[in-house]
Amino acid sequence: MNKKILVLGAGLTGLTAAYYLNRFGIPVTVLERSDCPGGTLGIGKWEGFTFDAGIHVLHGRDPKVLSFLEDELGIPLDETYRRAFFVHEGKVFPYPFQLNTYCLPLLERLQIFFQMLTPRWGSPSNYGEFLNQNFGSVLCNRFIYPYAEKFWTINPGELTTEWVASRIPRPSLSERVQGLFGEVKGDFGPNAFFRYPQRGGISSLAETLARRLQKQIIYSAEVSRIEPESHSVTCADGRTYDYNICLSTLPLPLTVRLLHPIDAEINQKASRLQYTSIISLSVGIGGEIPHDYHWVYFPSLSEPMARVHFPGNISPYTVPAGCYSLQIEVALRGPVISPEVAPGFWEGCLDRLRKLELMGEKKNVLFVKEHLIEPAYVIYDHYRMLHLPKILEWIMEKSIIPVGRFGEWNYHWMHDSILSGKMAAIGALTRLWPELKDLNPTRDIFSAKV
Ligand SMILES: Cc1cc2nc3c(=O)[nH]c(=O)nc-3n(C[C@H](O)[C@H](O)[C@H](O)COP(=O)(O)OP(=O)(O)OC[C@H]3O[C@@H](n4cnc5c(N)ncnc54)[C@H](O)[C@@H]3O)c2cc1C
Repeated sequence: MNKKILVLGAGLTGLTAAYYLNRFGIPVTVLERSDCPGGTLGIGKWEGFTFDAGIHVLHGRDPKVLSFLEDELGIPLDETYRRAFFVHEGKVFPYPFQLNTYCLPLLERLQIFFQMLTPRWGSPSNYGEFLNQNFGSVLCNRFIYPYAEKFWTINPGELTTEWVASRIPRPSLSERVQGLFGEVKGDFGPNAFFRYPQRGGISSLAETLARRLQKQIIYSAEVSRIEPESHSVTCADGRTYDYNICLSTLPLPLTVRLLHPIDAEINQKASRLQYTSIISLSVGIGGEIPHDYHWVYFPSLSEPMARVHFPGNISPYTVPAGCYSLQIEVALRGPVISPEVAPGFWEGCLDRLRKLELMGEKKNVLFVKEHLIEPAYVIYDHYRMLHLPKILEWIMEKSIIPVGRFGEWNYHWMHDSILSGKMAAIGALTRLWPELKDLNPTRDIFSAKV
């Protein structure tokens, strides 16, 4: 069995793919640019504090994925009910906007209530229309459009609707009646509760997988050229690796750019795929946190912050005893040419958080760390819908399997990334050993032998 499989990127998808290939008895080589596993999951660990990249919790309920994490990898997960809030006119209210309208003047509440009762016909042609049809113009103009524009860095009318299905839930009539007068208690939407690793932050998912793969991962290996004709990959330090099948979790436009000979037309198409980046500030603070919130949204366009979360309230093991932490996220359109924010910008954010009583005294701040998450979210604009299939098809013709959140250029949550890594492993196996095609991919394939 001399066939070689290369995996580009040691994020959750690449590691899952490599793990499943190993289970089938096939060694792989994983090339990772950075010096640690996890890709988009984590930012870093300093002075006993652990910081994820933005809010990072497991919403997925697929029992197979949960069993993979808990039973197979042995990662204990805690289940927690979401404590999410939003800021409106200097006060903090329970999230989501569409449920807790009681923060608004009575007339506006009633307008929202009756607009949501009015039936709307026809299918929406963009995300802005989808929101309007589901929530009405008053709620949209008040919170949903500004937050969408701030988070996605684009007008909602320029986005498609193919990604929204279960992500944007609509409250029932009785929930809306309750929400007119006060906080609606109980579960709401697909993210009402989440799971999170007991220890080690969200990066522990990748670290556990990486321990199983050990020397098969080559760190500080930045892929700089892919040559499908000779089936070889070259890294920035000159090392070369050959392969029969290559799975790429690298951002799709980058994979296209690295493929030689370059196809100018596809390269130009891929370079126009849009994404957001996030500049975050992670803050370690001494003392007691003044609340138990997990995270807070800032829908108003007059506030630069998009979201702030409080890692120690998600898991106490992410902060040292007697301390707490927070992380501010600001969304920008990628690529971010100059990641520095204006002087005094973060100071202003911390002053605002202090005023809202979301943090204690500023003098207790132990350290701050700025970090750029790039890319962070794929923008589902109409351009993407039109050109993505052709770009993916072109790559696959070159025996490169694009996989993962940025490899496939989509809105994968972690459980999707795990499933996508597993399916890519099966795809690689059946390309190399077509006789396996008849096996049931979810049941038989990992117990068969080549
Ligand atoms: C801010 C933010 C918040 C999120 N919150 C949630 C959440 O709450 N719940 C949830 O389920 N999901 C969340 N996600 C999504 C989740 O992080 C992803 O689904 C998952 O991490 C994607 O893994 P991946 O391996 O596909 O991609 P990545 O993690 O991006 O992995 C790609 C890897 O390729 C490496 N690489 C890049 N270029 C090169 C190169 N030239 N050579 C070699 N290696 C290279 C990178 O270093 C990286 O390790 C969030 C994502 C972000 C950005």
